[in-house]
Amino acid sequence: MIFDNHNRPITYLRLAVTDRCNLRCFYCMPEEGIKYLPKHQLLTYEEMERLVRVLARLGVSKIRITGGEPFVRNGLMDFLWRLKATEGVEELHITTNGVLTEPLVPELVRIGIGSVNLSIDTLDRERFRQITRRDELPAVRGTLDALLENRVPVKLNAVVMEGKNIEDLPLLAELTRDHPVEVRFIEEMPFNGEGSHYPVLNWTHRRILQELQTLYPGLKRQQDSPFATATTYQIPGYQGTIGIIAAFTRTFCGTCNRIRLTAQGTLKTCLYDNGVLDVRALLRSGATDADLTAAFLKAFAHRPKNGFEAEQERGPVTESMSTIGG
Ligand code: SAM
Ligand code: SF4
Repeated sequence: MIFDNHNRPITYLRLAVTDRCNLRCFYCMPEEGIKYLPKHQLLTYEEMERLVRVLARLGVSKIRITGGEPFVRNGLMDFLWRLKATEGVEELHITTNGVLTEPLVPELVRIGIGSVNLSIDTLDRERFRQITRRDELPAVRGTLDALLENRVPVKLNAVVMEGKNIEDLPLLAELTRDHPVEVRFIEEMPFNGEGSHYPVLNWTHRRILQELQTLYPGLKRQQDSPFATATTYQIPGYQGTIGIIAAFTRTFCGTCNRIRLTAQGTLKTCLYDNGVLDVRALLRSGATDADLTAAFLKAFAHRPKNGFEAEQERGPVTESMSTIGG
């Protein structure tokens, strides 16, 4: 196992397979004028497989596929089969908006997917249309039903936004009554691809918790899993749990075990850094596996201590979350 310069193990890779998306969530992408990467700037599946093999040898055992919307990239399912069969890859997970996912759920089960994180900020069709700028809530609900029917472990991601979905907090929390899901309320971050937007964070993790405690006075703190970003709670008697993720307040950096590869093949050792290694350039200049390993180890030995240090080194965030993958 590899440890970084702050003695944190590196065991978890978040791999963005595309920057394209079939939704336009306002906190993630501008409505129009997005410049998608030309195809040759994306890592190929073969390149990604090679990087996963190299990282797995260094101790990365958990992979999460993300994007953009992973299911808009052709050939994704074949890629997932191959990834799951890679030596050292113990867990394969995926984060999706659920628009195209429902018919693929049985195959995801056969592949052995560990869990699916489904993004669903609201259960109201009109609010969904306002947030994502597309009328796709029925398709997303269909995916949720299929995941539950097929007993796939599910986490539901909801970004909490003033004036957009506050009335959904109890509606989403109520899903945990009869379903063994984890509903995760996430602080909004400044990654909407417009550069100028830096939210005044109205809904901090503390305020989200206060709101939930008002709604559910019996809310009980649960034991969090190691390296978790969410602090977990449960409403007594309910099957599922509720997580709160301080994504902007950054309370969990001390146990961060994750690295990211963006859709264009840039390594990020912190969500808030500006990209620390152009892995695509290395790959395409003929690097051997030993060269790649050495470059990764060097990057892991210089990780910022936390998201604030990373941000300080780069200046304000300008990119869209769709290139990073969350
Ligand atoms: N398209 C997929 C989806 O929406 O689940 C995967 C990629 S998306 C970038 C991954 C996660 O990042 C989603 O749960 C989304 O809600 C979250 N996200 C995107 N932009 C965000 C922002 N500005 N603040 C907080 N979370 C954000
Ligand atoms: Fe697409 Fe996911 Fe970004 Fe929404 S959050 S625009 S679904 S990549």
